[in-house]
Amino acid sequence: MKKAVFHTLGCKLNYAETSSFMRQFRDRGFTVSDSITERADVCVINTCSVTEKADRECRQIVRRARRHSPDAYIIVVGCYAQLAPEQIASIDGVDLVLGASEKFAIFDHAHTEFIKEQTPRVFTSPIDEATGFGPAYSFDAGGRTRAFLKVQDGCDYSCSFCTIPLARGESRSQSIDESVKQAVKLVAEGFKEIVLTGVNVGDYGRKDGVTLLNLVKRLAGVDGLKRLRISSIEPNLLSDELFDFWVSSDVLVPHFHLPMQSGSDEILRLMRRRYISNYYCDLIHKIRDRSPRAGIGVDVIVGFPGETEEHFEETYRVLVNLPVSYLHVFTYSERENTPASFYEYRVDPAERSRRTHMLRILSVKKRRAFMEMFIGKEAPVLFEESVKNGYIKGLTPEYLRVAIPHRNGIENTEEMVRITSLNGEVAYGELLRRNLNNANTKNDRAPFGLPVVQE
Ligand code: SF4
Repeated sequence: MKKAVFHTLGCKLNYAETSSFMRQFRDRGFTVSDSITERADVCVINTCSVTEKADRECRQIVRRARRHSPDAYIIVVGCYAQLAPEQIASIDGVDLVLGASEKFAIFDHAHTEFIKEQTPRVFTSPIDEATGFGPAYSFDAGGRTRAFLKVQDGCDYSCSFCTIPLARGESRSQSIDESVKQAVKLVAEGFKEIVLTGVNVGDYGRKDGVTLLNLVKRLAGVDGLKRLRISSIEPNLLSDELFDFWVSSDVLVPHFHLPMQSGSDEILRLMRRRYISNYYCDLIHKIRDRSPRAGIGVDVIVGFPGETEEHFEETYRVLVNLPVSYLHVFTYSERENTPASFYEYRVDPAERSRRTHMLRILSVKKRRAFMEMFIGKEAPVLFEESVKNGYIKGLTPEYLRVAIPHRNGIENTEEMVRITSLNGEVAYGELLRRNLNNANTKNDRAPFGLPVVQE
């Protein structure tokens, strides 16, 4: 049996797409693995263009793959493959490069027997022709608990720092019916939580006359689906109607990931973002008022061209005062062919690092304050399947990671836990009671030796 190995760089969307490549290989009789250090016949590398190290990373991974499988047929796909196909084709050992429109048809473009040739094959089309939708879903390392379902791809926005519209093309969505069909299948496979992923998920359905709200309402009705999470949403796309449904739904969890990028209106304008700082802050306060325990994550970019010390301090001040739960801090790096890469005033790299460091420290404090809110409180935890050092971990709806001593039969079930202590980014707790929805038989309840409390 032939073997194919896969390596993924970048976001959850890339991981979801890699899973769909894996399924294609499995369906054709390959054994598959996500470790390129295993000897294989075919190696697929799914690249990302977001970091400035894309080129270096891609070269390193090709080298590593060749070290472990010197004769493997090497395929490179993904955002960086769309942006720099010739550069990738020049890397020693690469056999096939596929762009955004071609990557879902690996078997149509590769030599069918994956036989290496003298020169690499390169298939890419102009990005404005990338209008197809490659369905994809994946699940994370915790096992069959949480699935990432791709419902949208591409982006019609033109944020001045971003290469994604160049790498993934225009915004397009998977139909509601198809998304529901995939969700039903995932639930039947045992998944309890679905995370909706895409490049600009809030833009879902705009060109088809439907909205993200229409989609989540349908998905929330899927029998057996306990949790629905939205990976991220642009602040200007969180409509009042969606917000009302979000904070009142039993299925759509109270976890909001809202990119802010900067607290300075001047920088937001240079970034070509579609809101001002006050709008963003009002939105966060509105969420906190209606959903006091909600997890709120914020993306922020530091060192953007033109960001003076005053602009940075403004961002810092805004964030200090916002009741958010954690920050994802990105250090700005110039990306080829983006408007921002031509802006004049550049922040010194050492200064970029200092600002990044300051915000990361702030993030640690924010996370700690968020986690402390839960001490002594009860929270439903959806446990994953892996057990480490006698502990099993899971997530609350608000995206708090919780660990408790492992009990048999608790994997992939949602249980009530009382949070007792914190350690780093993990909260520790004690199991309070089993959720009757999970307990199928008396035996299922037995290992706990606990009375089952009617919810
Ligand atoms: S919304 Fe802006 S940052 Fe996000 S993918 Fe689109 S262009 Fe990039």
